[in-house]
Amino acid sequence: MTDNLESYERKKARVMAEFKAALETGASIGLGKKTSNLFRSRQQAKRLIDVTDLNAVISIDTERLLAEVEGMTTFDDFTKETLKHGLLPAVVPELKSITIGGAMAGGAIESSSFRHGLVHETVSEMDVLTGAGDVIHCSRTNQHKDLFFGFPNTYGTLGYALKLTVKLVRAKPYVELRHRKFSDAGRFFSAVQEACSGDAFDFVDGTVFDAGTMYLTTARFVDAAPFLSDYTYMQIFYRSIAEKEIDYLKAYDYIWRWDTDWFWCSANFGVQKPAVRLLVRPWLHSTAYWKIMGWNRKYHFSEKLQSLRGIGRQEESVIQDVQIPVERAPEFLAFFQEKIGITPVWICPTSPASPEVYPTYRLTFGQLYVNFGFWDVVPLPPGEKDGYFNRQVEQWVDKTNGRKSLYSTAFYDRDTFWRHYDGEYYHALKKKYDPRGNLKDLYDKSVRAARTD
Ligand SMILES: Cc1cc2nc3c(=O)[nH]c(=O)nc-3n(C[C@H](O)[C@H](O)[C@H](O)COP(=O)(O)OP(=O)(O)OC[C@H]3O[C@@H](n4cnc5c(N)ncnc54)[C@H](O)[C@@H]3O)c2cc1C
Repeated sequence: MTDNLESYERKKARVMAEFKAALETGASIGLGKKTSNLFRSRQQAKRLIDVTDLNAVISIDTERLLAEVEGMTTFDDFTKETLKHGLLPAVVPELKSITIGGAMAGGAIESSSFRHGLVHETVSEMDVLTGAGDVIHCSRTNQHKDLFFGFPNTYGTLGYALKLTVKLVRAKPYVELRHRKFSDAGRFFSAVQEACSGDAFDFVDGTVFDAGTMYLTTARFVDAAPFLSDYTYMQIFYRSIAEKEIDYLKAYDYIWRWDTDWFWCSANFGVQKPAVRLLVRPWLHSTAYWKIMGWNRKYHFSEKLQSLRGIGRQEESVIQDVQIPVERAPEFLAFFQEKIGITPVWICPTSPASPEVYPTYRLTFGQLYVNFGFWDVVPLPPGEKDGYFNRQVEQWVDKTNGRKSLYSTAFYDRDTFWRHYDGEYYHALKKKYDPRGNLKDLYDKSVRAARTD
């Protein structure tokens, strides 16, 4: 056994023993990391079994293009290791602090998802510490394949992925990007569809700046670059989209192109102003923004500022990623622009890589979906309550047979929720792998906490 595997076995045994001991005391237990990238608030359990130290890359098989990784390894650490071998995970979510286990349990995607599917489709086997306190090895084909296929989108409510085997792809040193402008949504989404249909590109995504300004970005690995851009300091990636038709980045900088400014959301922290930017280089990354958000939630800075200025709380946070079938994408965008109006919006085409069914996040094989990502607060009309905008988005997801990620707020009633995320399948897994309900139920974790009515 390699040193890394031995170290994993020791950590696994420690976590399992702590979890079992805590179960025996009957205390309220939480299983997870001390930090989180979630947008909904977390109710702290009395005793947290901390799994943070399961964060190492165990092995990289450069022939079979597979990596064995501990569940709490961030994609930043993971990709630094794989790039030493000229490889990358097939799908790398945009934010450096997202972990492979969190991405597996949370339906993560990126611009290679039109080809490789969601992150969970790139995982072939894993060890899960279940709510019952057992470590179960599950894969596509073994006796625990029910857990394997039912684990995505369950956000730690069935158990925690401690070790995963992940598909890698061969990378080249650089990525060439081309940005193409559109002013008509129908044409824009047809071009997205066309870009995803062949083998010409390794990556496809897009940015909607307003109703008449949309950009499709297609990108591919290349061996050489005539020039290299750098969006880790004074230059800002999302602004470059409208300024350059062609661009080149190092492969490492491409995968983290959105991280420096958290897409465009870093504007909320004032760091897009050149004079400020000059001074805050060490703070220009998503991990720093999470920290600021965490402090804000803890100490209520925004509320205090608002009340000092005499502003009542009449805004709704509309932070969502939703997947809509591409044929309905122009319609969804028109609704979104008219009723909600957040700009910019991130567009990421996604398609299941195989006919395999993941019941708790079911997508149709052969269907191209467009992930719309929008993250901002919107003023509420007089008399309306929190949920007014998010419910409209949920209704659109429902009527277009799309899917919504659960990392943020959700307002579904129980029946609609379980229709979307296969309650029957989920509850059968819960009964089998967490029969005493030691971990929260998915509905209670992702919806109840957010409900205001
Ligand atoms: C603002 C924002 C933007 C986002 N943008 C994108 C995006 O562009 N692309 C994208 O792919 N995703 C995006 N996500 C979603 C993100 O991928 C998921 O929320 C993912 O679950 C985060 O993983 P994490 O490692 O950061 O986990 P955490 O934030 O720590 O936890 C997220 C949830 O997953 C559970 N979890 C964490 N680790 C494990 C594990 N090992 N096993 C089981 N459950 C676990 C936790 O209990 C928790 O419920 C975004 C999320 C936010 C908040």
